Amino acid sequence: MKNRKINFIKLGIFLFGISLFFSNCENEVLVEEENSNEKQSIIRRKIAFNNTVHFNKTSPIIKNIKLPKKSNYLSRNIEDENVIVHTDEVQYATYVDTHTYTFKITREFPEYYIENIVLHYNVENDSYDEYLLQYDISAEEFQNIYNGGTRENSKTIITPLNTGTFSNLSSRGTVECDTSCETVDVNCSAGGNHSPGESCSGTPDQQPYQYEFCRTTCRYVEYIDAGDSAGGGGSNTGGGGATDNNPTNNDIITDPLPSNPCENNITGNAGVLNSAGDCINIANTKPCEKITELLNNSYIKDKIQSINNDATFNLDYEKGFNLNDYGNGPIATVNNGNAQETSITVLIDKTNGSSIGFIHTHFNSNKRTSPLFSIEDLRALNAVYQWRKYKQKPLENITVILVSPAGVYAMVIKNYVFFAEEGNNLHTEEFRERRKKYYEEFPKDLNLMPHSDKIEKVVLKQLKKYGVGLFKANDDLSGWNELTLDEQTNNTIPTPCT
Ligand SMILES: [Zn+2]
Repeated sequence: MKNRKINFIKLGIFLFGISLFFSNCENEVLVEEENSNEKQSIIRRKIAFNNTVHFNKTSPIIKNIKLPKKSNYLSRNIEDENVIVHTDEVQYATYVDTHTYTFKITREFPEYYIENIVLHYNVENDSYDEYLLQYDISAEEFQNIYNGGTRENSKTIITPLNTGTFSNLSSRGTVECDTSCETVDVNCSAGGNHSPGESCSGTPDQQPYQYEFCRTTCRYVEYIDAGDSAGGGGSNTGGGGATDNNPTNNDIITDPLPSNPCENNITGNAGVLNSAGDCINIANTKPCEKITELLNNSYIKDKIQSINNDATFNLDYEKGFNLNDYGNGPIATVNNGNAQETSITVLIDKTNGSSIGFIHTHFNSNKRTSPLFSIEDLRALNAVYQWRKYKQKPLENITVILVSPAGVYAMVIKNYVFFAEEGNNLHTEEFRERRKKYYEEFPKDLNLMPHSDKIEKVVLKQLKKYGVGLFKANDDLSGWNELTLDEQTNNTIPTPCT
């Protein structure tokens, strides 16, 4: 996805009226800007769906919208998911000879704070293409967009919901299409070239604005018949091979249309309502803050230090502490494993929901012990999370800490929705399959400890699927780094929590 911001107003012609005033000994020069008459090329407005021009044609489509069933990984819902499409207020955008309608939706498991259905008028077919747009933003950005603030180029996921558009291009080949979106800034067209968020003296249709610009680029791949001497051909359609952001009829132009944020009583953060009426927090807004707070607590830091040494790593059992919070900060209770066992038993407080996680070691003498978290650690984290959520306790301070010869690591939940859905499968008969997947890319060496760099990357990739972040403490326990994987270079990137 490109991060390009485009100023549409390149041709603004400004007329400068210069008036000179003379008074005694001073010359004063006034430079006056005259407004141009240029209007923005995209007209957008919010209206009730019932009042839209194309209501008769679009309302049957909206009645039948379904989201596609989820991938195998999210195997809980086999059926296509029904969604509630809201029609009280839609965003209507017209440009060139086409237009889009953007709708708010409510569903059982929202995946992002802003999710919209977009209908795009297909000029060639005289029909509508349907898309799901999802904006990968934080709770704060959600609130900001809702309040009408400007936004950074957000990561936008676009999913076509019907396949009609490109399937009839040819019977002799297949068409591979890829749609990507970017946020475009349009500056004030009344002079001064003010960008979104700045003040512009123009009329309402000259004001600066932002929109989401999505373009589909398709490649036509011909079948190669046996005996055919010709190779496979490729050509661009859809996007027409255009390289700039001047909208065409094939492009999809929309605005993120947020639902009303609700307030999650437990976390106090902005959330979205799901179809069951619960206020869902998609993301943990303070993973760095909370884990830093824990390490700054000298009582907890001492506990970590007490087991972060070779003497502990040379034992034949795990040492550790259960972590509970009864409302006055974390309390650590000794929790050691049994000799020659590679596990500890984590007690979960089912009465108060006070369990917030645990601290434990992985040791050297069992050579198959991982220098990073095991999938059982992840399952235990999920159990802690489920109970805490069930007991309506804050979720941001949940963590599992690992003290291993490779370093001190912490798992922190970043996306509650993913973790609830994905993590739930760790407690079902599917666990065996997931366990296999988790260890699939582990080195085949009998001794895992020397491979911590490689295993770190494998675990990072796995945890991401569950919406869980991986943090590593500095050697002197002075602070944490969030680790992420650059998928292009396969390098681990540490970002200090500040
Ligand atoms: Zn463990």
